[in-house]
Amino acid sequence: MIPRMKPYLGWDELLALFKFNDDAVERFEVEFARMFETSHAISFAYGRSALWSFFKAAGVEDAEVVMPAYTCDVVAHAVVLSGNRPCFVDINLTDYNMNLDLFSAAITERTRAVIPTHLFGYPMDIETVSEIVQAAENRYGHKIWIIQDCAHAFGAHWNGRSVCNAGDVALFGLNISKMFTSIFGGMLTVEDELLAGRIRDWRNSHSKQPGLSKAIRRSLYLIAVYPAFQEFLYGIVYWLQEGTPLLDGLTKAYHLDEKIHFPPDYQDRMLDLEAQVGLSQLNKYPEIVKRRKENALYYDEHLQGLAGFELPPLVEGATYSHYVVRVADRRSMMRALARRGIQLGQLIEYSVPHMDAYRPYAGGRDFQNSLLCSQKTINLPIHPGLKPTQRSWIAKCLIEAIKDGRE
Ligand SMILES: *Cc1c(COP(=O)(O)O)cnc(C)c1O
Repeated sequence: MIPRMKPYLGWDELLALFKFNDDAVERFEVEFARMFETSHAISFAYGRSALWSFFKAAGVEDAEVVMPAYTCDVVAHAVVLSGNRPCFVDINLTDYNMNLDLFSAAITERTRAVIPTHLFGYPMDIETVSEIVQAAENRYGHKIWIIQDCAHAFGAHWNGRSVCNAGDVALFGLNISKMFTSIFGGMLTVEDELLAGRIRDWRNSHSKQPGLSKAIRRSLYLIAVYPAFQEFLYGIVYWLQEGTPLLDGLTKAYHLDEKIHFPPDYQDRMLDLEAQVGLSQLNKYPEIVKRRKENALYYDEHLQGLAGFELPPLVEGATYSHYVVRVADRRSMMRALARRGIQLGQLIEYSVPHMDAYRPYAGGRDFQNSLLCSQKTINLPIHPGLKPTQRSWIAKCLIEAIKDGRE
């Protein structure tokens, strides 16, 4: 079965597990900052830990944080668990990012931070975002932090400029479903030197070095990833996931339990071995993006004009962490493709303010586009290891499934 996503791993990453290098974390931070055209990078156990730590270190508390309604729920978790309140903004149906008029209207005198999110690798208009925030700062007379959520975007560009360095800080997630991985892990990049020092000091005095047993568990996890994503075994993994409850603990329960919580190890430091894997992956980043763009272009050329199949835009500077299409009946489309050996993804299958835990923060607004996308989007396999024959097979099967659906 062709998996909906697949980390781009080779021998390097496997060998990285056996290199013992106690400055790997610092080296990963330096190389990471360089690759994404930012000044400083500070590593964490998860992306959510990076965001949470930023709020703590910068002293943002009991404030409103403006963020998209349609995004990964762990972002909202970090806002609430740091003692703040999310203020949700509905998205555009064109690029899946926050609607800028609604964004502007959502900023009040209680707002202390905003999280422009470049979902699925589509860059937001960072220039307009900065103008809106600047005007609000002048109006209210206090600092409003701009946190770029680059967990999907990495090095995406808007008007020739990297989105990562367009705010005060940028946030990255590095688990195996991201564009590149350090097994788990998160990164915060920071433009200002003093601020970077403050965050680093805060992290150093509030985190702990994980023990050997975690390093062993993470190594085994990475080793298991290699066979699990091979096409011939993935069919079995898929069956275990869909047909049995055996893997629920690993996969499904993750987002659907609707509780605002963090994993117990969220204040751990990044492991040296995670940083080693991250360093190997960083070398591959340019190739990963190039191949994703080629795959996006292929789908765009071959899937035009299909009724009830709304393609995403092709955008200069986008990095295509996902290739997202809206369809009328997601379930039957996913089943039809699964029968032909293709797994489609359904990320993100919730609208955050519609989750029980976040209803109190919805403020009586309706977030229609976010709700629609949570129900109608699928994403096509677009990972860098996808072979041209697989790509054309996917396009062919989609066209057939749409035809069958009409008859
Ligand atoms: C993955 C992700 C994060 C960070 O996730 P962690 O799992 O905490 O590393 C942040 N924002 C978005 C949009 C994401 O998809």
